[in-house]
Amino acid sequence: MMTFHPASTPDFLPPAQMRALQLDRLRQVVSRAYDRVALFRQRLDERAFHPGRLRELRDIENLPFTTKADLRDTYPFGLFASPIEDIVRLHASSGTTGKPIVVAYTRQDLDVWTSVMVRALAACGVHSGDVIQNAYGYGLFTGGLGAHYGAESLGATVIPVSGGNTDRQIMVMKDFRVTAICCTPSYFVHLIERAGELGVSVRDLPVRVGVFGAEPWSDSMRRHMETAGGIQAFDIYGLSEIIGPGVAVECPHQHGLHIFEDHFYPEIVDPETGRVLPDGDEGELVLTTLSKQAMPMIRYRTRDITSLYAEACPCGRTVRRMARIGRRSDDMIIIRGVNVFPSQIETALLAVEGALPHYQIILTREKGLDAMEVQVEVTPEVFSDKIGALEALHARLGRALEHALGLRVAVTLAAPHSIQRSEGKAKRVIDRRSIDEAPHENSATVPLSRK
Ligand SMILES: [Zn+2]
Repeated sequence: MMTFHPASTPDFLPPAQMRALQLDRLRQVVSRAYDRVALFRQRLDERAFHPGRLRELRDIENLPFTTKADLRDTYPFGLFASPIEDIVRLHASSGTTGKPIVVAYTRQDLDVWTSVMVRALAACGVHSGDVIQNAYGYGLFTGGLGAHYGAESLGATVIPVSGGNTDRQIMVMKDFRVTAICCTPSYFVHLIERAGELGVSVRDLPVRVGVFGAEPWSDSMRRHMETAGGIQAFDIYGLSEIIGPGVAVECPHQHGLHIFEDHFYPEIVDPETGRVLPDGDEGELVLTTLSKQAMPMIRYRTRDITSLYAEACPCGRTVRRMARIGRRSDDMIIIRGVNVFPSQIETALLAVEGALPHYQIILTREKGLDAMEVQVEVTPEVFSDKIGALEALHARLGRALEHALGLRVAVTLAAPHSIQRSEGKAKRVIDRRSIDEAPHENSATVPLSRK
């Protein structure tokens, strides 16, 4: 069932009209950044390229890229294009190392954010009358408040439950008759499992839509969540540097994510050379915020690998779609010269019966060589079965991974519930290569076999 909120009108603009709107906004945002952001002005001056020379959309290729390093180097407020009195909200994303990245919003920026979240939720079939459990973390992370204001503006009933406290989440889902949930996919998997332990079948509850983001997830994970949760699972994409959640979302056809390209102009570039690639080619997603005031991002390198498709979607939306993000260029693990992405491992594992979507990838260095171990939990049924069943599963997983990755990796079967559950973004990769004798971060895991 499709629901079109009036805010969704730009999703259906004729492409020529969209291009004209984008060019107009691109000129404005580049002028704004040039006039107000010292780093951007300096870079344009170095190239002797003045904003006035932007005559068509492809002229964007003359502009310099912005990277995450630029945000760190100008910490905290160096890329702001608005004075602090015009800024009404700050968010920050915690970096894995050192200082966080700080992002800012004017009143108008927040209105844009709300409008794209309304469009995103509407595309997932959420409407007024829905009861939304918003289990994204509230706070400096953009997930919680981003989804919150969008859902409220849509006219839905929002439960700002935030992340964590899983038993209470299950009580809320059941007693408040929740019909839609927003959280990370790994947390939803955890909720289904914990609900089962409490004697609650999520499948039998009224919840019918899940809007999942903040971490990459595979189609095998989708099948698992849709079957075990009795929902339709939608992928939502966004990042704090650009606005937060609400940059792109799936429609009910679940074939790529529609980009709200009246506000976020997408390009795909070769991650090595930076050369712009045509629609259909896979490369790194680069986004330009076309309407951001407080912190315009010009050609921001997202590190996410995807491709764009311009073909019309059966849902009627004319905005371009991007393929689901399966990997990020900085997620790549190189093991014995072979490139491996965590998403390939997830897909291979979930295709094997008896394995659960709880897994971890442990990287170590032995005698100067990188080694990878995949720990995967088994179902209680397999676990309680004869030892022969475990051995057979172990061999099947080893073969599935070797087939998917093109190399043999160590597989360790873990007892049910032994891998730590995530309440936010799942930590799939534990890299012990740089720390020699650090204590095991995952000592709760019970290894059943080792090869
Ligand atoms: Zn569509």
